[in-house]
Amino acid sequence: MQGKQVWLQSSTGSIALDHVEVTDDAIVGELNEGFKVMVTTLNGGRLFIAALALSSLAFALDRCRLYAQERIQFDEQPIGRFQRVQDVILDMDITLEQGLTWLFHLVRHYNAGTLSRESAAKVKIECTRRASELYNVATEMCGGIASMDEFGLIRHAHDLFVCRVGEGSNFALKTLAVKPLMPSIAHLLQ
Ligand SMILES: Cc1cc2nc3c(=O)[nH]c(=O)nc-3n(C[C@H](O)[C@H](O)[C@H](O)COP(=O)(O)OP(=O)(O)OC[C@H]3O[C@@H](n4cnc5c(N)ncnc54)[C@H](O)[C@@H]3O)c2cc1C
Repeated sequence: MQGKQVWLQSSTGSIALDHVEVTDDAIVGELNEGFKVMVTTLNGGRLFIAALALSSLAFALDRCRLYAQERIQFDEQPIGRFQRVQDVILDMDITLEQGLTWLFHLVRHYNAGTLSRESAAKVKIECTRRASELYNVATEMCGGIASMDEFGLIRHAHDLFVCRVGEGSNFALKTLAVKPLMPSIAHLLQ
């Protein structure tokens, strides 16, 4: 894939396999049920994407709290003394703690084989959405330096886009997650 501006550390492309023959012991799942196997991997994949978003958020929290203590403006005082700046840092910390608690709970379900697809969808939607929202304010809080690659925030902000659209886009996953809340019209939702 040429011109990709996200996930720069990974090469992305499509793979086509045609008339490939494998031995019986190399078949994953049942014969001709490959789609089912692929779909069942998505629940775990969504936990993975939620974890990616939270790790980006953890990076932003560390960046911002250091910057807030080190950056001196005009009057020899660090910008972290402003309540608005404190607000950004605390929101990141609270969201990270909430997200990790939720995610660990679902990982235990995953390991026990009891993870529902709605739960996996919801944690992926919320962790990627909140991390993305907080990146908007985190970059703003750090000012112009945040536009520099070496500062790190801008790369994570771009990568969070993949977390929102990949492994089932958040738009599409919302329909899946809302169905149990409106069971009598679930068949109409799209
Ligand atoms: C950098 C990168 C890496 C990737 N890596 C992988 C990978 O490793 N493995 C893999 O399998 N895929 C991978 N993908 C593909 C990724 O999963 C898809 O891009 C994603 O599922 C969205 O599909 P699409 O791009 O075809 O968008 P489209 O299907 O064209 O959708 C566009 C938008 O339409 C909306 N939409 C679509 N369908 C619905 C719906 N049912 N309900 C509501 N809204 C809807 C959503 O907003 C969606 O984002 C990668 C993509 C990128 C950009």
